Amino acid sequence: MADFYALLGVSRNASADELKRAYRRKARELHPDAKPGDAAAEAEFKEVARAYETLSDPDLRARYDRYGEEGLGAAGSQGFTGGGLGDLFDAFFGGNGSPFGGGGRGHGGPPRGQDLEVVADLTFVQAVFGATVPVTLRTAAACTDCNGTGAGHGTQPVTCSECNGRGQVQRVRQSLLGQMMTSSPCSRCSGTGQVIATPCPTCSGDGRVITEKTYQVDVPAGVDTGSTLRLTGRGAVGPRGGPPGDLYVHIRAAAHDRYRREDNDLVTELPVSIAQAALGTRFTLETLDGDEELEVPAGTQPGREFVLRGRGVPRLQGRGRGDLRVRTVVEVPTRLSDEEAELLRLYASSRGEHVEPQEKGIFSRIKSAFS
Ligand code: ZN
Repeated sequence: MADFYALLGVSRNASADELKRAYRRKARELHPDAKPGDAAAEAEFKEVARAYETLSDPDLRARYDRYGEEGLGAAGSQGFTGGGLGDLFDAFFGGNGSPFGGGGRGHGGPPRGQDLEVVADLTFVQAVFGATVPVTLRTAAACTDCNGTGAGHGTQPVTCSECNGRGQVQRVRQSLLGQMMTSSPCSRCSGTGQVIATPCPTCSGDGRVITEKTYQVDVPAGVDTGSTLRLTGRGAVGPRGGPPGDLYVHIRAAAHDRYRREDNDLVTELPVSIAQAALGTRFTLETLDGDEELEVPAGTQPGREFVLRGRGVPRLQGRGRGDLRVRTVVEVPTRLSDEEAELLRLYASSRGEHVEPQEKGIFSRIKSAFS
């Protein structure tokens, strides 16, 4: 995999804010709205998401800086960690329900399945208010012909006689310090504790088949690109009835043509003419919650911000919402009719302001030459 900093296009001493901005920019570039059906963009996004999740966690970043990707250890070899975000989101999905969570072997049963990851694409509004969205992925599911046991029709896995189902064999060794007990995975049953005499023909004794699955994911309000949800137990099932891994869902939120997010605030621009800014006006503003009356008082300056409290993004795992901030952009007209120009000249002269005399365009010069 490419260098994490290079993937995000930031320098090695980028601040947390710079990382976040770089990640959001990348995510928008690789969004399917921008690149529909582009499988390479999808793959690149996953890499970028992983890079961001590593670098946004100070501890993982320090390890990455020092040792590179190998330094991420188990996290790296599993392909994915979920960073700190996974734990944050456990609250939404009932916590780590799997008693084997995070564990591999060693408990004597069949091994745990792989953690998987998938990208969920949301509209801007879905990310702000939450939504239930389907995600589809290729995963390993329990073979229905053998109920995941891997044992052929009419047979059952039997307890391994070598280790009596413990999956571990213990040996007593004589050493200088006296007798020592050592234990190692049972070689007959590969540590599973069970032996299959006649493997299921459908799954060749693995107990799993590769299949496409669709899950409906409840996405809480307030997520954004960079949020990751962990769905405990929705990863691949383990072989021969092993417990499932977890599913990590990377959120990718689309941009909005009028609104953008600044943390929990929604920000939008309101174009007003110079006359409206000077004399005051009233607007019906289309907010994400519906229409809102907005009064622009006389003498409004460019860049003035009107704050609609509590109309922003719901706080993730918190109460309340951010604000909606409406920034005025005073637009100076670039094309004036003769009458409009005349009125403005009158205005300028009444205030004693110098303005350039009327410059005749080529057409009016031609016209005046003929008149
Ligand atoms: Zn089977």
